[in-house]
Amino acid sequence: MSLFTLHSQQQQRPAPLTPERLEAALGGNLCRCTGYRPIRDAALSMQESSWKAPQWIDASQPAHTPLTAPQSAEANTDLFAQPTTLSQLTELRRHYPSARLVAGATDLWLENTQRLALLNQLIDVTRVDELRHIEESIFDEQPGWWVGAGVTYSQLEPLLETHYPAFAHLLHRLGSQQVRNRGTLGGNIANASPIGDTPPVLLALNAWVELANQDGSRALPLSDFLLDYKKTALAADEVVSRIFIPQLADDAVLKVWKLSKRREDDISAVLGAFHYRIGDGVMQDVRISFGGMAAIPKRALQTEAALTGQPIAKENFQAAQRALSEEFQPMSDVRGTQHYRHQVAANLLERLYLSLSVPNQEVMLHAYAH
Ligand SMILES: Cc1cc2nc3c(=O)[nH]c(=O)nc-3n(C[C@H](O)[C@H](O)[C@H](O)COP(=O)(O)OP(=O)(O)OC[C@H]3O[C@@H](n4cnc5c(N)ncnc54)[C@H](O)[C@@H]3O)c2cc1C
Repeated sequence: MSLFTLHSQQQQRPAPLTPERLEAALGGNLCRCTGYRPIRDAALSMQESSWKAPQWIDASQPAHTPLTAPQSAEANTDLFAQPTTLSQLTELRRHYPSARLVAGATDLWLENTQRLALLNQLIDVTRVDELRHIEESIFDEQPGWWVGAGVTYSQLEPLLETHYPAFAHLLHRLGSQQVRNRGTLGGNIANASPIGDTPPVLLALNAWVELANQDGSRALPLSDFLLDYKKTALAADEVVSRIFIPQLADDAVLKVWKLSKRREDDISAVLGAFHYRIGDGVMQDVRISFGGMAAIPKRALQTEAALTGQPIAKENFQAAQRALSEEFQPMSDVRGTQHYRHQVAANLLERLYLSLSVPNQEVMLHAYAH
């Protein structure tokens, strides 16, 4: 299926089929047994093939028959709705409060495959026009971007590459290309997983979430949206419509480090996101957040306080490590014990210290991480 997609892309936009492109296209296929070389050979030979893939249906086109909301809802009526406007979406949401919203389905569908949940009422948000745009804007007196909840990681990548390189680098570690082509920013946030990759980064960037219903919309800081394990401030009649990502100040730095058992296609054990500026020889605007250290992705407020207004000195980072060990009580699970999580989170602070204090250290650390 991965090579089918690649072949189809080749037909739409012919480009040299390099080993790097091939590796990226096959990225999510972890079971390589003994057949991997013939698969690569077959893939490379497709350049000579004259076979044409069936016509690609462009999902950016509105659905042919837009659905309107029903007059009344029956609890067990099977439903698959594909609204194309936010107004249709929120109307459906109001009439079917127990229906599940689905975007890329890369999280939701695990409820079916792992827990055999019957998902018989689904409202697909991927064709809703208002959820598909990235718009440069000013919000709360800050310049930045409103990103539609239905924007996929692949669609978000160019913005991140240009304005948040560390966030873009994280994206290459998030799932595989197939997952990034389907998975959305809204799905990652609404899923409210303690180990979702983007929330810690968005917390460090002071991002906001916009929620919409039939009456209008409200915006709240992401930190107020994530309430507890898998629990959010989303009301039964609301959808996540957009996410506001503030632009980094010229002198601000964002660093993001993800630790997982496998490099590719693996969820974080711990993820640390670090935002700061250095002004007058001290650290300012320090915002540090972690995934995998609590029931939800969370700011490390005491750790931030230990560094804010302080010069870059080993003892200050040691104080920050002590604060960090006290403010989180992570759980032990298959991805790591509580002790491991405490240790690696502290190590990330040390990494930050080394990257700030030792010239060229970051280059070495970067190379080591690969
Ligand atoms: C192989 C694989 C690897 C993965 N690797 C990673 C990884 O490395 N890091 C990571 O963070 N995640 C990973 N994931 C999880 C997943 O890809 C992400 O969380 C993704 O962002 C989910 O987005 P989605 O559009 O697929 O959401 P869906 O699965 O469609 O939905 C997820 C949840 O959000 C709700 N939802 C969706 N859209 C909205 C909306 N607009 N408003 C309100 N609620 C909404 C749904 O009802 C559901 O509860 C992986 C998944 C797979 C299958």
